[in-house]
Formats: sequence, C-alpha cells, structure tokens
Amino acid sequence: MLSVNNLTTHYGTSQALFGVELDVVTGEVATLLGRNGMGKTTTINSIMGIVPASSGSIVFDEVELIGQPSYKTANLGIGLVPEGRQIFPNLSLMENLVATASNHLNHDNPWTVDKVFDLFPELGERRKSMGNLLSGGEQQMLAIGRALMTNPKLLILDEATEGLAPLVRHKIWVALNEIRKQAMSILVVDKNLTDLLKIANRNYIIERGRIVWSGTSDELRDSRDVLQRYLGV
Ligand code: ATP
Repeated sequence: MLSVNNLTTHYGTSQALFGVELDVVTGEVATLLGRNGMGKTTTINSIMGIVPASSGSIVFDEVELIGQPSYKTANLGIGLVPEGRQIFPNLSLMENLVATASNHLNHDNPWTVDKVFDLFPELGERRKSMGNLLSGGEQQMLAIGRALMTNPKLLILDEATEGLAPLVRHKIWVALNEIRKQAMSILVVDKNLTDLLKIANRNYIIERGRIVWSGTSDELRDSRDVLQRYLGV
C-alpha cells in the first residue's frame, strides 16, 4: 500500500534522512522505531508532504506522493494522527470529530461518530466538552477518531501514546488492533515497545536517518543486541 524508497530529506543544508526504505502492507501494522532525533517524525512528515522530500520515491496506492501538497496526500486516503495531537482547542469534541470528516473514497461501511464512540466509549460521554478541557488520553483518542472520520486507507500515528498512563495506552493499543481488523493499514511511531510489538506485523528501526533493521515482532524480541544497540532497551 505504501512504499518508501531511497528517501532523502533536508532541513536547509542539514540532511535528516539518508535513503529511508520502508513498506506498509494492506491490513498490516508497521512500526517505525528509534531513539529521539533519529528521523521518525521527519519520515512521517515527508510522507505527508509537510516537510518536502529532497529525493527518492514515496508511492501510495500506485501514486507518487513526492511533490504533492499535503491536502492531496490526505485526500488519497492517508489519515495522520500528529505528534502532540493538535486538537482544535476551541471546538467541542463533537465538532473536532466532524470538522474534517468525509467519505470521498466511498467506503462501503464508513466511520461514523457512533462507530468512533463504540471504539472509544469515553469520547461519547464527553461529546460536548471543549477540546482544551479534555485529558491527554481523551485528546489522543479524539485525534485517532478524527483521523478515522476522514475514512483513510492508511492511518499514520506519530508518538501514539506519548505521556499517557498505562491504562489509557492499553485502550489505544486495543483500539488500533480493532481498527486493523477492518482492513486498515497502520504505520505507528511509538516508544512503548512491549505493547506495540504485540500488534505489529513489521518493524523498522531508524538510526541517524537510515533504516538499520527491519523484521517481525518475534525477530525483534529475539534480537537482544538490536534492541540494546538501537533502542536502548
Ligand atoms: P523524536 O522522537 O525526538 O521526535 P525523531 O526520531 O522523530 O525524534 P526528527 O524529529 O525526525 O526525529 O529529527 C531528525 C533530525 O532532524 C534531528 O537531528 C533533528 O534535530 C532534525 N530536525 C527535526 N526538525 C527540524 C527542523 N524543523 N529544522 C532543522 N532540523 C530539524
């Protein structure tokens, strides 16, 4: 579904990505792992066209994304849950959910407000609350729900559970597993390895702008030296 090949990205004269390669297969969860400052957000922002790629190729559903503006990439069916959630603070939870909702790809069984509330019952109880009055966990669930309401084919989550309590993190992993069952592909950046590996099909590790390891969750769990060298665990 998504194929990133030989991707390089610069910030001015400073190069951040050096030939990143990764694939996300339909109906699978892929992770992008790595320590702080290694290039995870830059990779995601390059895919989304938020940071312009310098060279390489990013093909989504047979369309080259490099050079496309972000809104076109989103319209092709990529839903982003950005780092920091970026909930609209002065809109209610409900307004946040519906403000960017659409089903322009004509999915048979699209995401609706009710389906999002089934996935995250906490949100249903807070539907009238303003975005800035929601807890971190509620904001994260809302950011996921808001992305689902655009009915994407691929969901990308940057730091999906950063700063959240273990119970809330668990709810988010359970939800992602549910979402995956609905033929959605997911690319997720997160530091909570244990939970993440349970739902991931393929994992990529990025180190100083290069993918240095990829493999299944079982392979990663068994690779003590890889875990220690690149992730410090
Ligand atoms: P973190 O987990 O801390 O978010 P990351 O793996 O997502 O880290 P990036 O944010 O992609 O890493 O950063 C990759 C490199 O690019 C770092 O060296 C960082 O300093 C640099 N970088 C990131 N954003 C900018 C920017 N706007 N301008 C210049 N350099 C940047």
